[in-house]
Amino acid sequence: MSNIIPDIKPAGRTRPAPLPPPKWSYHQVRKLIHLACFLVFLGLPFLNVMRFDLPRQRFYFAGYELGISEFSILFFTLLFLMFVIVAVALIYGRIYCGYLCPQTIFSEAAQWWEGRVARFVKMRWAGSAASVLKVRERIISLAGVFVASVFLAFVFISYFVEPGDLFQRLISLDVQTTGGVAGLIVTLFTFLDFAFVRQTFCTTVCPYGYLQGMLVDKNSLLVHYRDEEKSCIECKKCVRVCPMEIDIRDSPKQMECVHCGECIDACGEVLGRLGRPILIHYAWGETGAVMGNKSEKWYQRMGFRDTKRVALLFVLLFYFTGLMTALSMRHTVLVQFRADRGQHLYKIDSHGLVVNTYKAKMSNRGTEPAGVSFRIEGLPGAVIEPAGAVLVDAGAVVEQDVQILVAPGSRQDVTHVKITARAMPGRSETAFATTFLSPPAAGKGTAK
Ligand code: SF4
Ligand code: SF4
Repeated sequence: MSNIIPDIKPAGRTRPAPLPPPKWSYHQVRKLIHLACFLVFLGLPFLNVMRFDLPRQRFYFAGYELGISEFSILFFTLLFLMFVIVAVALIYGRIYCGYLCPQTIFSEAAQWWEGRVARFVKMRWAGSAASVLKVRERIISLAGVFVASVFLAFVFISYFVEPGDLFQRLISLDVQTTGGVAGLIVTLFTFLDFAFVRQTFCTTVCPYGYLQGMLVDKNSLLVHYRDEEKSCIECKKCVRVCPMEIDIRDSPKQMECVHCGECIDACGEVLGRLGRPILIHYAWGETGAVMGNKSEKWYQRMGFRDTKRVALLFVLLFYFTGLMTALSMRHTVLVQFRADRGQHLYKIDSHGLVVNTYKAKMSNRGTEPAGVSFRIEGLPGAVIEPAGAVLVDAGAVVEQDVQILVAPGSRQDVTHVKITARAMPGRSETAFATTFLSPPAAGKGTAK
C-alpha cells in the first residue's frame, strides 16, 4: 500500500459536511464490558457462583454446593461450557478475545497504567534527565503491576481455595502449604505476564486462539476492510490504534486480530470528519453482510446464518436443559439405603419381634445441619428405629444402622416394602424399594 496521503479535496469539489461525532464507539462498549467482566471475575468465587473448593472437594455452581462426585451435574456443566466456547468461536470469531478475555482486559489495563505513570513522572520530575525519568517510570509502573498481580492471583486461587482460608495464608506469608505455594507461583506468572508478555500471549501460546483459527468458516464474524471505491486516505490511524500492531487492510484473517474493533472506531473518526463512509466493519465473513444490516432477518443479524449454527444452538439447549434438570433433581442431603444381610437375613429379638437391619449413608452437601428421618410403607404394625431424626452436620457423612421391627404373623417370608428418607430442612424425600424377611412360620424362630 502506498504511504502517500492523497488529496482529500479534489479541485472543483466541495468537501462534504463532516458527520456528527458518533454517539458511542466500540472502544467505549469494550471498556464497559471489560469492567463488567472484571466484576464477574471478582464476584464468582466470593459469592460462590462458580468455585472449586479443592481442599473440601466441593464445587460451587449457581448457588448450589456440590460434591466433586456429583458427576452428572459436573458432566453437563463442563459440556455446556465447552459448547458455549465452540459456538461463540464459530459464530462470533475472536469477539471473546477482544471483549471478554482476562488476558486482553488486564494487558490493556497494564498498558493504561503505564501511560498514566509516564505522564505523572514527566510532570512530577519535569527537569530531570530522560534516562532518570525512564528508570523512575519503570520502577513505579512495575510496582503497580506487582500489587495488582498479588490481588489478581488471590482472586484466581479463590476459585479453588476458600477465600477466608486463602487470606489467612496470604497474611501469614505461607509458602509451605499447597495453597501458599500455588499463590506464590500464580503471583509470579501473573506479574511476568502483565509486566512483559501481555498481548504476545494471544499470538503465541493461547490455545483458544488456535482453536478459533480451526473453527471459523465463511459465515463467522470478522473485522473486514472494504474499499471498493478506493476511498482510503492512508492516514494509518487504524494501524496506530491496533493493540496487536497489525494492518487490518492486509487481510481480515490475520491470526493476531482479536476483533476488538479499535480500528473501526479509528477509521470512523477520521473519515467521519471528512463526510466519507467508514471502510472497516464487523462483517459476516469476507463476502457476507456487514453486521447490523437492517435488511437481514433478525436471526441472521444474530449470527445464525446456516443450519450448522442452528444445530449448535439445539445442542446448547440440550445440555442446558440437562444441567438444569440435574440441578433441580439434586437433593442437598444425599441418602443411600440398603438391606444388611451380611450376618442375618432376619433375627428375633428378646420381645419376640422379627427384626431386619438396613444400612443408611447420609451425605449433607449443604451449608447447615440437617436431620434425616425414616418411615416405612407396606408392612402394617412395623416400627422403625431410630424413630427420630438422625443429625448430619453440614459437609458431614453419617452411616447409621436402621432397624425394622414387627410382630411375627401370617405374612409372607418376603414382604416388599417402601422406605422413605425425609431430610429437613428442605423436606426432600427419597424413596427406596426393599424387602422385609420373616420366618416362614409365625411364632418362634431363631436368628438365621
Ligand atoms: S485489526 Fe482492528 S480489530 Fe483486529 S486487533 Fe487490530 S484494532 Fe483490533
Ligand atoms: S483509518 Fe481508514 S482511512 Fe485511515 S488508513 Fe485506515 S482504513 Fe484508511
